[in-house]
Amino acid sequence: MKRAIYPGSFDPITNGHLDIISRTARLFDQVVVAVIRNPEKIPRFSLKQRVAMIKQTAAPFPNVAVESFAGLLVDYAREKKAQVIVRGLRAVSDFDYEFQMALTNRKMAPEIETFFLMTDYKYSYLSSSFVRQISHFGGDISEMVPPGVIDKLKQN
Ligand code: ADP
Repeated sequence: MKRAIYPGSFDPITNGHLDIISRTARLFDQVVVAVIRNPEKIPRFSLKQRVAMIKQTAAPFPNVAVESFAGLLVDYAREKKAQVIVRGLRAVSDFDYEFQMALTNRKMAPEIETFFLMTDYKYSYLSSSFVRQISHFGGDISEMVPPGVIDKLKQN
């Protein structure tokens, strides 16, 4: 049984995240999308809201579960018996941070591999923070986030 963890803030989930989730679901027996509870960041959406939006979006994938966690990612991955951490890569700007994180995690847990999936070119520009800003100023985000998220952004 190959299990992968896809961690992130997902504030909110975008079509770029969804693309990574659907491709990961094809590669592994089980995927756990893990929403990070980060006390240092004030999120736009609560943890509960973010988990609910991902659950709704990932409903078509029977092997994808959605959870939240606090603490060290490698501890959580071990607890979940996951062999792999999945991360998405967009532009070169993601690389520095992801490289550092992957090597740090490998140092702490050499048995867990980090897998990088290259973004689809359609989503290479897309980030949760841009979506938040565009929606805040009334811009059109309909091609950037799953349908359920559009309404939540309008309400929240
Ligand atoms: P974090 O706060 O950990 O960066 P995010 O929720 O922003 O979490 O992203 C989670 C993961 O998804 C990261 O690996 C990020 O690089 C990746 N990701 C975010 N947006 C995209 C996108 N448009 N295409 C591919 N991967 C993405």
